[in-house]
Amino acid sequence: MSISGLPPYDPQNVFARILRGEIPCRRVHEDAFALAFHDINPQAPVHVLVIPKGAYVSNADFAAGATDAEIAGFWRAVGKVARDLGLEAGGYRILSNMGADGGQEVPHFHVHIFGGRRIGRMVPRPEA
Ligand code: 5GP
Repeated sequence: MSISGLPPYDPQNVFARILRGEIPCRRVHEDAFALAFHDINPQAPVHVLVIPKGAYVSNADFAAGATDAEIAGFWRAVGKVARDLGLEAGGYRILSNMGADGGQEVPHFHVHIFGGRRIGRMVPRPEA
């Protein structure tokens, strides 16, 4: 079990396969610590995912298990990607889902970057 209580890291998850080059992606940035690429199903004019290169299921696993260099490198990449996408002036949202309640679909820690329009409510109202 991962530290967050989620199942252990699955090396066949789609982002692991993207990292290995087994599935293509529209890459916007890559360095030693992170890969950033366009979401396949964008929810905003700009919707980019940033993932660490290490095998971490969730933010909890990343925060507890990654080295300081990995954590710093990853968050620097998030900042650089948002800047390079031209989102600083208009603003943007970063978001990370974890587990069932968070709505996480892909069990490899990732941050969404949304921009290019007013993103709207931070959390949708509960469904009736
Ligand atoms: P989550 O719900 O786990 O926070 O977000 C997973 C995201 O990964 C979703 O927004 C989904 O559209 C995206 N995604 C799933 N499969 C692929 C894929 O094969 N390629 C890309 N680029 N994005 C994917």
